Amino acid sequence: MKKFKLNKLPQEIVSQIAAGEVIERPASVVKELLDNSIDAGSTKIKIKVVNGGIDLIEVSDNGIGIPQESLSDIFKGHTTSKISSLEDLNTLLTMGFRGEALSTIVSVAKVSLISKYIEADTGAEIEFKSFDDFDIKSAARESGTVISVKNLFNNIPARRKFLKTAQTEYRRILNILYPYFLIYPNINFVLEKNRKEVMNLKNISNSKEKSLHKDRISEVLKGDFVQRMLKLFFNGAGIKISGFVGHPSDHQKRTSNQYIFVNGRPIWDSGIARAVVQGYERYIPFGEKVPFLISIEINPELIDVNVHPKKEEIRFLNPYRVYASVEEAVKKALVSVTSYHKENEPKNYLSKQPSFVSKEYSNKKSVQRDITFEKNRSSSVKDSLLFSKEILSEKNSEGLSFKQKESLRNETIRNIFQIFNKYIVIEFENDILWIVDQHAGAERITFEKLSKVNKNSIEKQQLLVPNEIQFSDEEIEALNDLKQFFKERGFEYDVKDNRIQIKSVPVEFVESDLKLLFDEIFSLSEHPSQLYKGIKKLKDDILATMSCHTSIRSGQRLHREEMLDLYNRLIECENPYSCPHGRPVVWRLKLSDIDSNFERTY
Ligand code: ADP
Ligand code: MG
Repeated sequence: MKKFKLNKLPQEIVSQIAAGEVIERPASVVKELLDNSIDAGSTKIKIKVVNGGIDLIEVSDNGIGIPQESLSDIFKGHTTSKISSLEDLNTLLTMGFRGEALSTIVSVAKVSLISKYIEADTGAEIEFKSFDDFDIKSAARESGTVISVKNLFNNIPARRKFLKTAQTEYRRILNILYPYFLIYPNINFVLEKNRKEVMNLKNISNSKEKSLHKDRISEVLKGDFVQRMLKLFFNGAGIKISGFVGHPSDHQKRTSNQYIFVNGRPIWDSGIARAVVQGYERYIPFGEKVPFLISIEINPELIDVNVHPKKEEIRFLNPYRVYASVEEAVKKALVSVTSYHKENEPKNYLSKQPSFVSKEYSNKKSVQRDITFEKNRSSSVKDSLLFSKEILSEKNSEGLSFKQKESLRNETIRNIFQIFNKYIVIEFENDILWIVDQHAGAERITFEKLSKVNKNSIEKQQLLVPNEIQFSDEEIEALNDLKQFFKERGFEYDVKDNRIQIKSVPVEFVESDLKLLFDEIFSLSEHPSQLYKGIKKLKDDILATMSCHTSIRSGQRLHREEMLDLYNRLIECENPYSCPHGRPVVWRLKLSDIDSNFERTY
């Protein structure tokens, strides 16, 4: 029989349990250490990460430092120099406030810290041999603090087991770091990965105020879209909003590059994200997203920061007031796009360009496409599916049989012409009429061509001037992985830092917006860097996306020869009847159907 026995848990175990809440993985250590360095008033912070932070995380700063006599106390639970009462908690503006981080970190890793307090003559070092066994000795240090955290969770195999690969943990660290990099342009951040400096962000502003600067943003996020972002501003109802939102032409499928800060603290609040999208109503296609960086300043008494142990979420006293302000700020920012657009709008603009020019085919740089809305995609798909009921019922999903193909080849065309600059009408001698969606047809042709790389050599075109495009770290990683994949399909590029230099593309892509093409490919996976891993499953999606960027598009006038060429290549496709996205390519009508529509019986 088991006997009743009450145990008092040793402090180390208590701290380790608490760590479960605060310190989950290397990224959480980085966050806590960074918070501390920032609270110490640092203007330069260096972060070193080895092996995804599992082997080493070291953060050094030039902040006020820690007096030698407090060195051991700061590692005890519930010690903090930041708050002393509950009232403080409510008006707290600093980052850390629970006095818990260091005590938990020291229970799950090997820690040492050197610091020189601003008012002291010499520095001191504390080194932990185990949870409660440490040495303190004097040490040289100019000013500020350096803390090193080694072998995370080495003493807790159950937790260590949950860590992912170094690469994944490193990416999570970046996810933590980026918001800080963005909101503190006044701090010089240096990042070292596996003993190699990978980022050195010079201080841009020397104001203490937390703010967003375009130069810093573009250094961190690296995309061309940053330059096109619109400035946000709102002041009212006790709320101040500043920051930047994406230009409507930069709408995206992913939720990447979205940042929210409240009183300088990176947080996430889906209500705010929704409010942004609402601000874009009718500026971007339904369901699409935009990049944004929103900084909200609000009286600290109107928020409760202590909701989340990792401080990633906060509670607003009146969330709807915040959401409404965000939406208004976004709408105001977008007005500048509209008025600019109107002033520059050619008089015959509307008659020139169909209002449903879809995202893929518009010129990114032109102002004209700013508020050119995409026709609601789902309804247009529904329409064409309805239209093509007949062809779908006839459609052989396996593709055409040899016999079917032969009979198609033998059909004689009586008439071929284009309507609305987007459909090709073909009248056959055997009383059949085809209406072909020219873009969908071109997509199908390219898709099959790209799918059969080994059987079919791709016709490449060398670019006289290599096309250079900038991407984020994650995207560059994906582009490195996919180099061979793209090469086999006619896309050749070199990767240099955060840019790729495109040297050749298949002839069909000479006029395509390649940045847009790659962006859409990246949006197929939540993490672009995972694309290559899922390549088996995603291959068709990637090829379909690529095919969508071929040169024959909706709205383009075609010559008779081009139409015939498209037709001839289409009937050689395994499945000429539907585009790679599953939309119909051909609507086939019999003369008898047309006749019966007019109630003709002869
Ligand atoms: P908290 O940040 O919530 O106060 P921590 O456990 O993170 O709790 O830190 C405990 C204390 O150690 C802080 O209140 C601060 O006084 C001191 N401290 C930690 N890191 C630094 C640093 N880099 N520079 C100066 N003081 C620091
Ligand atoms: Mg702290």
